[in-house]
Amino acid sequence: MIDSDSKKWFKSIFGNAVKFDEPMSEHTSFRVGGPADVYITPETPEELAETINGVRQRKLNYLVIGGGTNLLVSDSGIRGVVIVLGKCLNKITHTATEKENLVALTAGAGAKLHRICRFAITQGLQGMNFALGIPGTVGGAVMMNAGTASGSVEGVIDSVNVLLPEGRTRKIQKKDLNFEYRKLSWNMINCAEKKSDFFKPIILDGEFHLRPSDPVKLKKEAEHMLKTRKKTQPANLPSAGCFFKNPMSGKTAGELIDLAGLKGKKIGGAEVSPIHANFIINSDRASAADILALKSLIQETVSELFDIDLETEVKIIGE
Ligand SMILES: Cc1cc2nc3c(=O)[nH]c(=O)nc-3n(C[C@H](O)[C@H](O)[C@H](O)COP(=O)(O)OP(=O)(O)OC[C@H]3O[C@@H](n4cnc5c(N)ncnc54)[C@H](O)[C@@H]3O)c2cc1C
Repeated sequence: MIDSDSKKWFKSIFGNAVKFDEPMSEHTSFRVGGPADVYITPETPEELAETINGVRQRKLNYLVIGGGTNLLVSDSGIRGVVIVLGKCLNKITHTATEKENLVALTAGAGAKLHRICRFAITQGLQGMNFALGIPGTVGGAVMMNAGTASGSVEGVIDSVNVLLPEGRTRKIQKKDLNFEYRKLSWNMINCAEKKSDFFKPIILDGEFHLRPSDPVKLKKEAEHMLKTRKKTQPANLPSAGCFFKNPMSGKTAGELIDLAGLKGKKIGGAEVSPIHANFIINSDRASAADILALKSLIQETVSELFDIDLETEVKIIGE
């Protein structure tokens, strides 16, 4: 619960733009999720820093999100403050680097990932095509180490600027970022709160190092990749992309779910996509509970048949 004093404080900063009890189903690609106590979209980096400071002083829980394309929010929603980047921190700039002819493309965390891919193509810069078709923002892509079979953020990122919990900003080089499969963990930051659960640096921007190339060739490659993607993924129905991480070796999660005979399996309004078995789709006004029940059924069936534990790639959040 947000007390009336805190509500007044949010109003004093955001006016009518602050939303209370905002349904997260309107802000996630899954189109499910109950209300967030507070939902705000800071418009400047200063407003973001002021907000974090005030939220921390009031000891409120907070969660920074980007496009909400990798989230499953529970039906009871989120107790605390959801902070959405996008209105601020969405600039893209490019400069030469001193490293082997590489060009640095710096993108604000709130910029859409597809914008940076398109920008790179028009500038004749190679390296971002792997991310074509991945929805969401740069901040979300860095946090998730988003990628495909052709590459991932880890392969092109050089550094990130973050806002640390105590209000300082810090540039962190790639060597100090611990990327794993669809995951970034914070490795080398020295900060008093690092060990607490509250340690949640906010990504402000990412610097990507790309190699000059031929824009016509890049565009052709992009068209081919997008075409293949369209054929193999159910892009028209609400989902959060691949629901499970692929096991480290052997068959992919999608292949295992398919072999288990679960393609097309439905619980309530949630369904295993008949096109791509690793996509759970919201085919008919699913609740988060429907999706979670289907997730458990898939995990139990795959475990029984193949003795493999599927780990979720989608972040499950909320009360
Ligand atoms: C149709 C579809 C296809 C997809 N295909 C792919 C694919 O091919 N490959 C792939 O990797 N993913 C894919 N995804 C999943 C998703 O798009 C990616 O994980 C994406 O990078 C998430 O970005 P986002 O901005 O939506 O992050 P969100 O879903 O908003 O957030 C994801 C996580 O990052 C954190 N976060 C977000 N921004 C920040 C920030 N600035 N600072 C700190 N933490 C932050 C959030 O708290 C959350 O934990 C797909 C999703 C859909 C719906």
